[in-house]
Amino acid sequence: MLIALNYVGNRQLTEFVTACTQAHTLLQSPDFITLIEGKQTHFDDAVPVDLAATQVAGYFRDETFTLSVDDYEDEDGRTTVGGRFVTSSPTTIWLNRLAMPRREACEFASVLIHESVHAMSRRISRRTNGQVSFTHIPANRRTGNLLTAPYWIQEEAEVGLCGQRLAEEERLTIETVDDEPRQAEKG
Ligand SMILES: [Zn+2]
Repeated sequence: MLIALNYVGNRQLTEFVTACTQAHTLLQSPDFITLIEGKQTHFDDAVPVDLAATQVAGYFRDETFTLSVDDYEDEDGRTTVGGRFVTSSPTTIWLNRLAMPRREACEFASVLIHESVHAMSRRISRRTNGQVSFTHIPANRRTGNLLTAPYWIQEEAEVGLCGQRLAEEERLTIETVDDEPRQAEKG
């Protein structure tokens, strides 16, 4: 079943329902594995070394789990933050309701793909006692991180989801909050 996304937001906002369906459909498709395998070079910032695309694609082919998608309002009132993933509650991805006006569903689907890569990395990291992960450092900045797994896979997926690559200045920021102590990650 690969990664399944399940939108559980109380309001069942139409745009988020659509985004969740779009991202879920892609994650369930063999095309998604092919997309990852299409990277000719290793992913930056992986642990313990930059990982081959085939290795990362293998995790997406072999793992099966469901992520809940819920919505929230950014506490600072920001409309440019698309969503967040919090490592201490790794089975939920959050979409920011304040970002919804004037945005296409595909932009949120793109955010969901990015955060799904974080969720997969977190899962593999836990299983390997922190020996293997594929995230990005420093957190939450696209600049300098385009060859990391979350950003590279997201932007390749986005071409299919949105029909084009989004302009830099139009992009939603994506937050990943690592709120676990290092020891806990090894536990
Ligand atoms: Zn990220």
